[in-house]
Amino acid sequence: MITHEQCLYWDKEDELKHFKDEFALPKDIVYLDGNSLGARPKNSLNYAQHIITQEWGEDLINSWNKADWWGLPVRLGDKVGQLIGAKQGETVISDSTTLNLFKVLSAAVKIQANKYPERKIIVAEKDAFPTDIYIIEGFIDLINQGYQVELIDGVSDLDRVLESEVAVVVLSHVNYRTGYFYDMAEINTKIHAKNALIIWDLCHSVGAVPMDLNAANSDFAIGCTYKYLNGGPGSPALLWVNPKHRDEFWQPLSGWWGHRKPFDMAQHYEPAKGIRRYLCGTQPIISMSLIECGVDIFLKASMQKIREKSLKLTDLFIDLVNQECSEFGFELITPTDHHYRGSHVSYQHPHGYEIIQALIARGVIGDYREPEVLRFGITPLYLGYEDIWNAVQHLKAIMQHNEWKNESYLVRGAVT
Ligand SMILES: *Cc1c(COP(=O)(O)O)cnc(C)c1O
Repeated sequence: MITHEQCLYWDKEDELKHFKDEFALPKDIVYLDGNSLGARPKNSLNYAQHIITQEWGEDLINSWNKADWWGLPVRLGDKVGQLIGAKQGETVISDSTTLNLFKVLSAAVKIQANKYPERKIIVAEKDAFPTDIYIIEGFIDLINQGYQVELIDGVSDLDRVLESEVAVVVLSHVNYRTGYFYDMAEINTKIHAKNALIIWDLCHSVGAVPMDLNAANSDFAIGCTYKYLNGGPGSPALLWVNPKHRDEFWQPLSGWWGHRKPFDMAQHYEPAKGIRRYLCGTQPIISMSLIECGVDIFLKASMQKIREKSLKLTDLFIDLVNQECSEFGFELITPTDHHYRGSHVSYQHPHGYEIIQALIARGVIGDYREPEVLRFGITPLYLGYEDIWNAVQHLKAIMQHNEWKNESYLVRGAVT
């Protein structure tokens, strides 16, 4: 039996508890959606003010050099790189995850076409975040060279598909819906044994779980900075390329920011040496700059400690739902095995949508994903054990009193 007192004790003993002070969160809410839009680092307000008034307002165009706006995508990439097992010069921040997938997919397919022209299959998961599948479809249609997308059911289906002519596999390191966490090194070994290449989508794993892209011998990776990393709504995304592939090919969004000498204003494209060739055009400097506020907090903590607390909090959530809400029909779809669990917990329930609305009305902010999935993001830097206790007590009250039946909870906004 887990008690409220026990949760308070765990909070008292929590080594990471002081990190909550680094974030601005409204009072009296439990924010369980940091996997979709991370909370605001307090420092981001001052930093935004500095960038807008000083760098933009006072220094104007000089800031490209003086504040090194030009170098920002790589400088920030190197900082984020420390969280993903990247070395200096392997990561850039730019554009969105969706666009970055297009770039690395083009590169991966081109590299494979040179070596193994008969390989025409691109693999993704049926349950992938849909933008990944949409981009693969758009890319295949654009190049029109007989490529096909093959959608697999999950990790158990991978061996089967790898018996065919697979060029590239695109997987989410942590599945956005179920929270399934792929064993990166093991999967890479399997894929490389069949001479295919892997692209990892890190949207739900960067800042959530420790990883080492180099040690695992990954090929390409992309991922959001506005989720666990708290970069701010729509902040630009990361892109990582294994150095062994980096200079083999450039990507077709060959804009001037990826040019070897952009200010020569040369007539023809020549890719930059190194990771800058994955840039395209002028970047949103204000939005990009704010990523640093979130990443700096992570660099003061340790991903290992964050992971330990994340597992304790997700365990607590699951145990409390078992203890307090067992009769209400919630079906856990997140792995119970730590080795395969990311940092969110998801349940399926036929009234998932209304239950999430009722929770939000009580100040517990989780989210809903089709079909019938209630998703609760666990962000150890600004959540404690009592928060989890409170969230589950609210859930129990909503179910006991049928609060979710309120008709207003059936109304859907443009964004669910
Ligand atoms: C959030 C998310 C995206 C979103 O990509 P954007 O280009 O930022 O809209 C892509 N893939 C996964 C797995 C995600 O979770």
